[in-house]
Amino acid sequence: MKLSFHGAARSVTGSRHMVELPGCKLLLDCGLFQGRREEALRQNQDLGFDPHSINAVLLSHAHVDHSGALPMLQKHGFTGKVHLTRATADLAELMLEDSARVQVSDCSYVNKKEQRKRKACVRPFYNIDDVRKVVRRFEGTRYGDLIKVAPRVTASFHDAGHILGSATIRVKYTGRGNTTTLLFSGDLGRSNMPILRDPEPPPPCDVLILESTYGDRLHEADRAVMKQQALDLLNHAKLHKSKIIVPAFAVGRTQELVMRIKELVGEGRLDPIPIYIDSPMASRVTDVFRRHPECYDEETTKTFTVSGDLFASRYIHFVSSPEESMRLNNMKGPCVIISASGMCEGGRVVHHLKHAIQDEANVIVFVGFQAEHTLGRKLVEGWDVVPIFGVPTRRRAKVVTFNGFSAHADRQDLLAYVRAITPTPSKIFLVHGEERQALSLAAAIQAEHSQVEVTVPHFGSSHEI
Ligand SMILES: [Zn+2]
Repeated sequence: MKLSFHGAARSVTGSRHMVELPGCKLLLDCGLFQGRREEALRQNQDLGFDPHSINAVLLSHAHVDHSGALPMLQKHGFTGKVHLTRATADLAELMLEDSARVQVSDCSYVNKKEQRKRKACVRPFYNIDDVRKVVRRFEGTRYGDLIKVAPRVTASFHDAGHILGSATIRVKYTGRGNTTTLLFSGDLGRSNMPILRDPEPPPPCDVLILESTYGDRLHEADRAVMKQQALDLLNHAKLHKSKIIVPAFAVGRTQELVMRIKELVGEGRLDPIPIYIDSPMASRVTDVFRRHPECYDEETTKTFTVSGDLFASRYIHFVSSPEESMRLNNMKGPCVIISASGMCEGGRVVHHLKHAIQDEANVIVFVGFQAEHTLGRKLVEGWDVVPIFGVPTRRRAKVVTFNGFSAHADRQDLLAYVRAITPTPSKIFLVHGEERQALSLAAAIQAEHSQVEVTVPHFGSSHEI
């Protein structure tokens, strides 16, 4: 077995890992790079391998940094199947379509601006047609089913508790007289989070590829603290007539945040303020949630049966048309606007930031991880002037980060995950984490399991197993 890492190696974006077995090549995830424009362009145009040579893709979940380069793979000659859970199949279709739309509109916006400076045109990586073609290759599976992906190679998907449909993938190769099992964690969620079930305990494996997003950090564990933070923020908004802008992936954190606010209102601790979910995807995503009750935890299953719609309420407005979205720009607070993309790299949220960022009454709230070089990261780091659509813009709005809403396991969860694998795997590769996070986790794993070979692979590196 040979592993090569073509993305999310000492970084968190563009998850692409290749597994070479006798007679077959598999790709674990096929994600889009996000970050510095030129670098992202280069990494996205060249996948780092020949798409013709890939027999099958195994996709851990629908987030675009894991799925967003699938249409390019198809465009450049991939003819195999994409194996994924059924919920991921439905979600990924929406997210890829959205990614194509966002690329088209961002490119035309940038081109309009840069035409004046006579700069070269930027082009979207793919369009809706390319998305439709790759979606035809989707082969949805259920959690736990054993599927054949190539001769002598089987795979199974196990609930990773990260977003709807997310999975940890186990690949088993049976050669002459020997078997090798590989476990790819995908992105791991956390226990006791709303809507989704907890991550499944890991099945046994010889080799583990483990995410390390928060390899060096511990989350605020207390739900009460998280709720109090949300309450303080909303009261601040009322008092100062603030706009609260929440850049969030359309899936996962958006639904969770809405649930938390609904809980506060339900408990009589908060007078409702208008919440605008400004994402053309949001209601379609909610439909996908409705179609996949097999992914819910017990509490959510009950709520859905009793009250019908988990996300509906008189003060929650789903915004779909661009005109409605633009009206929010001139609207006065207090209000909450939840909009994609989560790292402010494109989409409607950038327009909301452009209009709200210069007013000190406003607050920008981050609920998800912000990759290096993204606009989101610059804001989290406290930059006073940030580029918005290439224009340096003064930030006067306050920026806060709610780590408690993270959909990722923290250092303690990751160490517990490794401990739960019996017997301990002989090799562990740490991916999907910035260098500091990954190296710190590697040292901690090594200290606990001295016999294990722990590697933090470099971008483009290959490893014989
Ligand atoms: Zn993810």
